[in-house]
Amino acid sequence: MSYTIKEVFYSLQGEGFHAGRPAIFCRFSQCNLWTGREEDRATAICQFCDTDFIGTDGQNGGRFKNAQTLTEHLLQFWPSTSVPPFVVLTGGEPLLQVDSALIDALHNARFEIALETNGTKAAPKGIDWICVSPKAQSELLLIEGDELKLVYPQPELMPNVVEHLSFRHFYLQPMANTNTSLNQKHTQMALEYCLKHPQWKLSLQTHKFLGID
Ligand code: SF4
Repeated sequence: MSYTIKEVFYSLQGEGFHAGRPAIFCRFSQCNLWTGREEDRATAICQFCDTDFIGTDGQNGGRFKNAQTLTEHLLQFWPSTSVPPFVVLTGGEPLLQVDSALIDALHNARFEIALETNGTKAAPKGIDWICVSPKAQSELLLIEGDELKLVYPQPELMPNVVEHLSFRHFYLQPMANTNTSLNQKHTQMALEYCLKHPQWKLSLQTHKFLGID
C-alpha cells in the first residue's frame, strides 16, 4: 500500500496528554468528514476544522510507495539519541490509510506510535496510544482508547454523551475561532465545565501560544 502524506515535521506535541513532548508529526492527506475545500465546509459533517490536509505539498510531504519508505522518511527527523522515536499519526483522518504494515514497520524501527483520529474508522492492532476526537453527526466506531479529546462546545455532542466510554483520559479542548472573543468564551466555557465535572481535563493548544507548528 502507498501512503499520501501532507506534511512531516518535528515539534512538541501541543495538546492533550502528551503536551510538551517532542514528537514527529506525520499528517496524512484526506479526511472522510470534510473535503478540505472551503466551498464544501457548510455542507461538511465536520465544519470547524482548521487544518490543511489536502495533497502532498506541505513540508516534507509526498507519496510513499510502501511502509518501509515512509518509516525511513520519518526516522530522519528524530535527533540521534538513545530515546526511541515518538511519532504522532494525524491528519486529515489517518485511519483512511494507516494499516498493519505501517504499524509493523514503525515498531521494527523502535517507534512509539500515537494516533489522532476522529474515531469513525477501525484501527489496526498495536498502536501504542489512541486519541479519539469525536465529531457531532458522525458515527463513532472507536469507543475505547487512551485519550478522548472533545472539541468544545459542539452543541450536538456534549461531553455527557461520550464520558461513559472506555478511555483513560478525558480532555475538553476549546473550539478555536479566528474571533478572539469567541476563543476566550469557548475557553471559559470549557474551563467551567471541567471544574463542574472533574472527570474532564482542559486541553489547550499550547503550540498556538508558542507560535510553533
Ligand atoms: S475530522 Fe479532524 S481532520 Fe477531519 S475535518 Fe474534522 S477536524 Fe478536520
